[in-house]
Amino acid sequence: MADKKDYYETLGISKSASADEIKKAYRTLAKKYHPDVNKEPGAEEKFKEINEAYSVLSDETKRKNYDTYGNADGPAGFGGQGFGGSGFEGFGGFEDIFSSFFGGGARTQRQSNNRGQDLEKSMTITFEEAVFGATKTVRVTVDEDCPTCGGTGAYSKNDIRTCSKCGGQGYVFVNQRTFFGTARSQVVCPTCGGRGQQIDKKCTNCGGSGRVKRTKDVELKIPAGIDEGMTLRMAGYGQGGKDGGENGDLFIQIHVTPHKFFKREGSDIILSVPISFTQAALGDTIDVPTIDGTSQMKIPAGTQSGTKFRLRGKGVKSVRSSTRGDQYVVVTVETPTNLSKEEKELFEKLNNVEKKEKKSAWDKFKELFSKK
Ligand SMILES: [Zn+2]
Ligand SMILES: [Zn+2]
Repeated sequence: MADKKDYYETLGISKSASADEIKKAYRTLAKKYHPDVNKEPGAEEKFKEINEAYSVLSDETKRKNYDTYGNADGPAGFGGQGFGGSGFEGFGGFEDIFSSFFGGGARTQRQSNNRGQDLEKSMTITFEEAVFGATKTVRVTVDEDCPTCGGTGAYSKNDIRTCSKCGGQGYVFVNQRTFFGTARSQVVCPTCGGRGQQIDKKCTNCGGSGRVKRTKDVELKIPAGIDEGMTLRMAGYGQGGKDGGENGDLFIQIHVTPHKFFKREGSDIILSVPISFTQAALGDTIDVPTIDGTSQMKIPAGTQSGTKFRLRGKGVKSVRSSTRGDQYVVVTVETPTNLSKEEKELFEKLNNVEKKEKKSAWDKFKELFSKK
């Protein structure tokens, strides 16, 4: 308050500057004086002033107050309080400042750092469990905030001090050689590991880390109709959040052991059924296994090998709706082998009848080519 600066002067603009002009002026100056780039004495101070000026002039209400009363908070306010210099501390690298001011939105880095990591697991279930659904238990081991110290790592609240190395910021500045020369950059404080605190007496439960491992059994409801490769998400069952942050999620990828006979294609089931030569020729009604039990299916006379029949609604329930798929039955006609004497005589008789009464398929085939 003592040495009141003119914000317009700081940004080098006129009192009637438009929002665009303010933004432009700020961008140019911030680039010039950003402490990562500008190592001259006073640059950091200047940078803070630029930020302060911008935080007021870019806000319509604050600018109006500033124009009228000489401070941003209006008649009762104290100029400088609440926004002075605050523009600087929160920023990391050179790029961050622009993403947070120009459309990038404020980064909620702290929040995302506190969120627990997601966990990934896989589980193998049977064909039947996938079709009908099941309840399973998954054992997971997660890191969580220590329940004794609440994640602080301290024996008691009185054992927590502000870190002397970083002054509680959690980060320190180091000089680093870069392509453009030496640059000052911000790194996690080596003394406190970014917590901004030092612990005099450590928590006996977690040894001062603030974190403990916990193994727990999570009950997993597998919905009917789930298929190979699908992933289930259990929100909040991943790694525990830090300092009261949100837990991560648990993702479980499902693998399904193939069935000996049933094959799945989405919500349809394909089943191959062998039928005899005579069943195919004369027709029959056969018992077909389905996931609901046995179902009767009619085979018309003269059925060819490879013919596909549909049993409507005998497939798998869709995992997302209540509709069911179909079962397709593919019949394969088995050519008889190891004929008994009687069977052999019958087939020979049949052969003679076919020769007399109608042309064989082979004869028709030969004719087709000789005609040309
Ligand atoms: Zn503890
Ligand atoms: Zn520190």
